[in-house]
Amino acid sequence: MTKLKPSLMDYTQKELTALVKPAFRAKQIYGWLYHQYADSYDDMKNIPNSLKEELAQKYLVNPLTIANKEVSSDGTIKYLLELQDGKTMEAVWLKMKDAQLDCNGETVHEAKYTICVSTQVGCKVGCTFCLTAKGGFTRDLTAGEIVAQVVTLKKDNDHKHNRKINIVYMGMGEPLDNLTNLTQAIEIFKEDEGLCISAKRQTVSTSGLSTKIDKLGEMDLGVHIAISLHAVDDELRSELIPMNKAHNINSIIEAVKRFPIDTRKRVMFEYLVIKGKNDDIGSAKKLVKLLADIKAKVNLIYFNPYPGTSYDRPSKDDMIAFQEYLLKHGLLCTIRDSKGIDISAACGQLKEKTKLENEDFK
Ligand code: SAH
Ligand code: SF4
Repeated sequence: MTKLKPSLMDYTQKELTALVKPAFRAKQIYGWLYHQYADSYDDMKNIPNSLKEELAQKYLVNPLTIANKEVSSDGTIKYLLELQDGKTMEAVWLKMKDAQLDCNGETVHEAKYTICVSTQVGCKVGCTFCLTAKGGFTRDLTAGEIVAQVVTLKKDNDHKHNRKINIVYMGMGEPLDNLTNLTQAIEIFKEDEGLCISAKRQTVSTSGLSTKIDKLGEMDLGVHIAISLHAVDDELRSELIPMNKAHNINSIIEAVKRFPIDTRKRVMFEYLVIKGKNDDIGSAKKLVKLLADIKAKVNLIYFNPYPGTSYDRPSKDDMIAFQEYLLKHGLLCTIRDSKGIDISAACGQLKEKTKLENEDFK
């Protein structure tokens, strides 16, 4: 495996201050990285050449390059990002709300965006419905590679550093399977003099590694969690998510109950609805029972198909009937509108691209 060169984006401001002397230079570099979105040492105009040369020996600036970009009719943009070892992964720019203008055409509220980031190249969990799983697992992303996805996408969309953004760890990979780099990235995002993205704007989605949910909870970082539940009984869940055998539904529910949650917030449970598998009212009934003691919110996700899958998308009627049952029984529930489906940027449609596939769409 290629030895990866660290990047300046791997470090919190405090850590960078320990590496770069004098301290005010570290502060300036932090500004170049996160306020000016510098891609190279050349961009850093007020940093002496001698220091830049010294740093360049040891650290990359931004460890990612944009290999391809696809724009959906709904404004979603899917990025294929290339890493220094030639591996690729995807991140998605999602427009959540349009800007609101007054009658003079002046902006009253700016548009709202969310970035969906990857935490691994591939994934080890092997969910049977997920395209990412098909390519197997290649490697964990470093903290800098996670951070750089947000920097790169913000820069490409001319989104100034002080504009608010939400982050969802719902791209490729299982975030809790890369816990150290994930939590380092969460801390770097939070830096006041960096991107200043508070933990409450960051949501970690997990397929349910219950022991790691506890570990993340013990760190008390203030992030939200979303649990990919998808089934109400262990038999079906183990078919969909093989590691359910080691981390069953009960162990996940117990871990969620221990997780520190802002009292005003709810834990999100994602429920992937697959035709003929878990879209019946009997399942909805069991779901209500399962989540009875938790301040929960359910997000129903249409299964997004891809070539070669044996699962089907549920009908709209079944989806609505499922939602209505939950709502009628006091469970908050939304249906996720699948953004970017025309460019395969929706949940579960992200994958690593080989060099050959890359050439195809260049
Ligand atoms: N590994 C984490 C986060 C990445 S997947 C997790 O599993 O939670 C993000 C979400 O996409 C998860 O809820 C996942 O179950 C869902 N997903 C995967 N494949 C999908 C598909 N084909 N259609 C719709 N959602 C899918
Ligand atoms: Fe991995 Fe999440 Fe896909 Fe499952 S759904 S294989 S955990 S990325």
